[in-house]
Amino acid sequence: MDRTIKCTDCGELLSNESDACQKCRSSKRTVCMGFSDKVSFHEQLRGKAKKEGTKKPVKEFIYGDEKKISNNTWVDKTRIIDRENNQYVEIIKDKDTGEIIHECKEPLTDHFNHGSAKFKKQK
Ligand SMILES: [Zn+2]
Repeated sequence: MDRTIKCTDCGELLSNESDACQKCRSSKRTVCMGFSDKVSFHEQLRGKAKKEGTKKPVKEFIYGDEKKISNNTWVDKTRIIDRENNQYVEIIKDKDTGEIIHECKEPLTDHFNHGSAKFKKQK
């Protein structure tokens, strides 16, 4: 996760949060978390758990915001792939209301047998 500190007044990138801006001497700070300014409030966490001797991670999770292209709204998405316990969980919530839009819990083997599941390889 990137953490970007900028001068609020002139927009200069600052390397140290406690220093005054080198350009305009302002002490106002804008701190952004995320991958870039544009997605600073839409973060996604990904994780993997690996065991020695196995090629595929035994457990993967993705938690974060995802944009629904259909109606241009943000949803809260959790996806857990648990190969050790053969479980696939996907929960999608409305960010505003907290209402569960989509919930899917099933054995991982069933899920992949549907033929509809596609997972992009993470780089
Ligand atoms: Zn400045």
